[in-house]
Amino acid sequence: MYYDDLSPYAYSTPEEGDNFTEVETGTRFVTARCAYQRLNVGWLETGRPGTSGPAPAAFTSKLLTVLKSQGVNETLGLHECDLCAEPLDDAHPWYVPRPGHRRASAGTGEIRVPGAPGTAYAAPSLIGHYVLDHGYLPPREFIDAVLAFDLRDRSTAYPWIAFPWIPDDAELYDALNE
Ligand SMILES: [Zn+2]
Repeated sequence: MYYDDLSPYAYSTPEEGDNFTEVETGTRFVTARCAYQRLNVGWLETGRPGTSGPAPAAFTSKLLTVLKSQGVNETLGLHECDLCAEPLDDAHPWYVPRPGHRRASAGTGEIRVPGAPGTAYAAPSLIGHYVLDHGYLPPREFIDAVLAFDLRDRSTAYPWIAFPWIPDDAELYDALNE
């Protein structure tokens, strides 16, 4: 699916909110009505590959750290890259990078990166593959936001979420206790 960079996110409504998974265990989920406006970044598809250019190394490395520390809206399913020339064949595990690639060409979920006050960037987790394997260069303001993202700044109610803007009344689902 394609969305213009910096367009308002419309994949789920603000009322449906964002769902954050605890990445360590994958068994706890917090759903919060979004108190921030979401802006799309990195929703690419064939024919609309986005801007390209060399990404600063510090950005690439920080982006990978964000991808490792966040799982957002993973419930919405597996998202396959269609910039890759060939569809993934059935024998190839979706989470293993293709030969010559650094990141898998399919992914689940998204990430959130705090932007200007009241806004967060919403990118698919495939953005790592787009940057590292397809030369995608996101908008400058997103690059700056990733570099400025302090991953130690966490929700007070849910300190296992590497994102600061989770309200205390967010809804918790704990699969171990259900
Ligand atoms: Zn690809």
